[in-house]
Amino acid sequence: MDSIANPWAEAPERVLAVLQVDAGRGLDPAEAIQRRLDQGDNLLRPAARISRAALIARQLRSPVVLVLALALVLSALLGEAVDAGAIGVILILNSVIGYVQELRAEGAVEALRRMAAPRSRVLRGAQVIDCPAAELTLGDILVLEAGDYVAADARLLTASEFAADESTLTGESEPSGKAIAAVPASALVADRSNMIFAGTLVTRGSARAVVTSIGMKTEFGRIADLLEKRERAPTPLQKRLEQVTRRLLIIGGLLIAAMAVMQTLRSEGLLESLMTGISLAVAAIPEGLPTVVTVALALAMRRMASRNAIIRHLPAVETLGSTEVICTDKTGTLTTGKMRVREIIDARGVIQPASAGAADPAVRALARSAALCSNASLTTGDPTEVALMVLADECAIDLSPLSTDAPRISEWPFDSTRKRMSVAVREQGRMVLYVKGASESLLELCSLPEESRKRIEASIQELLQRGRRVLAVAERRSGELSGNATDVERDLTLMGLVAIADPPRPEAASAIQRCQQAGIRVVMITGDHPVTARAIAGELGLLTASSRQVITGYEVQSLPDQDLQQRMRQVAVCARVSPEDKVRIVRALQQDGKVVAMTGDGVNDAPALKEAAIGIAMGRGGTEVARQASSMVLVDDHFETIVSAVEEGRAVYGNIRRTIAYLLSGNLAEIAIMFGAFMLGWPLPFLPVHLLWINLVTDGLPALALAAEPVPDGLLRETDRPSRATFFSRDLNLEMMGVAAMSTTIVLGVYGYSLASADPLTARSRAFAVLVFEELLRSFSSRSSTRTAFELGFLSNRSLVAAVLVPIGFQILIHGQERLQRIFHVRFLSGEELATLLVVGVIPALVLESRKVLS
Ligand code: ATP
Repeated sequence: MDSIANPWAEAPERVLAVLQVDAGRGLDPAEAIQRRLDQGDNLLRPAARISRAALIARQLRSPVVLVLALALVLSALLGEAVDAGAIGVILILNSVIGYVQELRAEGAVEALRRMAAPRSRVLRGAQVIDCPAAELTLGDILVLEAGDYVAADARLLTASEFAADESTLTGESEPSGKAIAAVPASALVADRSNMIFAGTLVTRGSARAVVTSIGMKTEFGRIADLLEKRERAPTPLQKRLEQVTRRLLIIGGLLIAAMAVMQTLRSEGLLESLMTGISLAVAAIPEGLPTVVTVALALAMRRMASRNAIIRHLPAVETLGSTEVICTDKTGTLTTGKMRVREIIDARGVIQPASAGAADPAVRALARSAALCSNASLTTGDPTEVALMVLADECAIDLSPLSTDAPRISEWPFDSTRKRMSVAVREQGRMVLYVKGASESLLELCSLPEESRKRIEASIQELLQRGRRVLAVAERRSGELSGNATDVERDLTLMGLVAIADPPRPEAASAIQRCQQAGIRVVMITGDHPVTARAIAGELGLLTASSRQVITGYEVQSLPDQDLQQRMRQVAVCARVSPEDKVRIVRALQQDGKVVAMTGDGVNDAPALKEAAIGIAMGRGGTEVARQASSMVLVDDHFETIVSAVEEGRAVYGNIRRTIAYLLSGNLAEIAIMFGAFMLGWPLPFLPVHLLWINLVTDGLPALALAAEPVPDGLLRETDRPSRATFFSRDLNLEMMGVAAMSTTIVLGVYGYSLASADPLTARSRAFAVLVFEELLRSFSSRSSTRTAFELGFLSNRSLVAAVLVPIGFQILIHGQERLQRIFHVRFLSGEELATLLVVGVIPALVLESRKVLS
């Protein structure tokens, strides 16, 4: 098989012949695989992943490594071979751990990205299948409809009402209408009206097309190098961390300078002062921090995926936790989406149950017309229309010959602005127009005796208040049936109305309750009638004392920005909303300072999804366009999934915050101990090797376990809501300083006492052990800011238990084994001494835990 040059200049048959494919069957699956092997995957830039070499380089480029390398060189110059060796080992360890963790995180992120990668519908072996866009190959027959991303360049075979947005390629913002006829070979991209191109999207209609080029050979691929690379911007959290690290380094730098001055005054050796400086710098740098954050975020992404929420952008993990308003669709997300007709209102306004329909000729006629005016089947299609098909089926109307009995001549499709849809069919040699749509939008087009109209309107109100979606069905048997929708939809005769139920999902109601307890407002957005919407919102428990208003799309459009912003504060339901209104709703909320999550599924929802802090697309029902515009995809389309993702977001935010506080208070203590000892004129308690050991191993391991702390029950409480301003709140800052002061006192106490009663080596050994124990034991109280380790249960985070016990074991070994004693510049400590230090080391943890009990 050859590829084909200028497919736009050829007839479709010729293109199919060259590409050796049957338009009715598509490629055979085996042939498709063979072609994929020959042609490669349909990918633009296969090396989007960070290479391993780059990852290693990243480990080595960090300022930590620079300081350590300097320490290594200086130790070697001072003739401290063992020190230099130890620093070398720790340097390597640090890089290896960082590398492995980041590789794992990268792997998790990559796997999720694949899950969220675009998909295409193709015809293979006479069946339409849904496959990853990367698997498309030459000759594949694409099955396209509005909302799809085009994933390869293809020649159109059939097209109806078809148009594509090619702005990414041509810069042309108007969608280009498409046709089948060949165009001259010399036509420019924008004029190849029978071609569709990778990277563009279908805005209207449906089509089939045969793939003529893939990957880098597509028009998009050709300019791909010119497009900006997808950069990996640091998340807000990572930026904030860089800030914190920088601040610590500055503090460390100032102290070093101060000490250097004093040392010169005390006339100590230059190299000695340098060594002191290096130790302090090492003490000040939180070496484990960046790894902890990356790991925590990646873990959270994975947990969210297992709870059916796929995150497409890493920063969304953080933002999710601070969500304040969730704007959610109704159908299928809050409700079951399984619509059924429950009642019928006849043309005089009398309500009767739908089940009575089979016997009543008027109801049968109504059901038949509604079914003729639908595109769904009994099981698939638009839920509203499925309900109508089921009604026809229950009325024993034979659905199969409907189309031969009354073939459809033309259709004026449903759109959410008109809120109705019409078809013209040929029935017994005559043309008939059937229209169905939202009751108020249809009734105004029907002529009715005043009395009937009043009764009908009363009946409609009654059903709307029961939460029903009420659709009217009407017909016209005379007059012109051509032109646009406004031309044909007039002078209608009402046949009757149907009331459709779509009950709320019980899980959604309890998830809404959880949100409310958490201080998260839920706003339901629906195309339904305000009365229906209010009734359903009531059943879901969405109407609260502070927000119980219903706003309509009409008001959204007519209110000025300022008023809309005011109004939205009390709104629980937005009814009769069209996708364009959603953008204004998001803007109004966000201008009011709220962090907004918004769901959407259609092409027209994309702008609102992009505008929202968190755009949430539907994985099942939604379009590819909506998915690409969003930062999160719901695999199951359910509202609870959003809530669990928010929960995970808060959990990871809290975890990271507490873990960082844990690490930083350790660093602060180290600086204070070193500086304190210096000021007291004592020999320096710690050498770089001790501080590195503590920062990387005995603090680093618990930190990793803390970052993975499981989501506690009842997490969604108002007090837990993270906000951008208070990542390091005053409380947390004070707590960090308090903790640092406590450890400093304990360690300096032990050190000073031992200096007085024993030799400096013993004093250093004890100070080292007590600081390690104190840090390790304190990690248990960093698991939660409100609950004690006993309330949480030690076994609910087993990795933390291991991350504490293993280093304690190490410490005992270090003081027991001769070679290790030499490396760490410490001496033997007896079991009794170690036990005493362990008891002293538990003090900070006890203080922190009792504070939780008392408050
Ligand atoms: P929700 O936003 O709650 O999911 P929706 O997306 O179905 O609802 P729209 O599609 O905008 O909302 O529908 C608005 C109104 O149009 C409905 O309340 C109904 O009265 C009418 N309608 C919906 N679907 C059809 C259809 N296929 N044919 C005719 N009228 C319809």
